[in-house]
Amino acid sequence: MKTKKVSLPWGLVRTPDNVFWTQEKLAREGIPHDAELIQEVELREMAEDEERIMGSEDADMDRVITNCIVAVGPIVDRQSIDNVVAPALLKGDSDWLLMELRRLSLGNTYDFSVFCPVCNTQNDLTYDLSRVEVKKPADPLRDRVFTYDAPNGTLVFGQLVRKHQEGLAWIKQEGKDVLGRILALHLLVSGGQPVEGETIQARIIKGVGLLREAGVVALSKREWLRKELFKGVCGPDLGTISTCRNLDCRAHFKHRIPVDPGFLLPSAKAEEGTWEDVL
Ligand SMILES: [Zn+2]
Repeated sequence: MKTKKVSLPWGLVRTPDNVFWTQEKLAREGIPHDAELIQEVELREMAEDEERIMGSEDADMDRVITNCIVAVGPIVDRQSIDNVVAPALLKGDSDWLLMELRRLSLGNTYDFSVFCPVCNTQNDLTYDLSRVEVKKPADPLRDRVFTYDAPNGTLVFGQLVRKHQEGLAWIKQEGKDVLGRILALHLLVSGGQPVEGETIQARIIKGVGLLREAGVVALSKREWLRKELFKGVCGPDLGTISTCRNLDCRAHFKHRIPVDPGFLLPSAKAEEGTWEDVL
């Protein structure tokens, strides 16, 4: 079975007493002076079990990623990986692992369709995933938590999102605007000290409301906030530019490489290719 060592853009924070610091703990207590970053993860390729998960109705990509983690730094114990390490991964790390797992298990060729925003023609593309690069934070230890004194005197806390599904659930329910989406996907902003047991959704809603109230978004601090937000947007860079195949159009358009459950399944085209190889 193939394995690969992967370097995480963020990594996990651990202190010498072997305690992993969650984002919540870091936001509450600050970055410990003796913190150590663990950024190396060993992955194995997907096997039958994972294929079954991806083929089921609630294709759980997080479950598949966790299954395929063999080691995190010096940690190889299955229970610690499942219960402590994997749930603490930041979204950017988890996204990057997903990309590396796809490349390791199914190779670099990825077929998908996008619609041209100019003429609406369906463009069937074959993309080489080896071209996808990872965006890394400038300071993987300190960029993950920040505080900001809002103009109205409120202290705003920011931290990176760990469980992005909760952010996604919020987007489906409430999020129409770009700022809210970025916040929900990558950063958790909350007013006041984070409260133990408070759900991520509750904190995102509170945080977005607070930023709006404080005028942070609309006024002079917009640039500051934008910079802080984009520090948090790390992981695979999925943006690309394509040229429309419709000869009357030929528009160049920017789009993202789609990552849905099909990303971890062999594509229909790849199967056709195999068939031709057999012939
Ligand atoms: Zn077009």
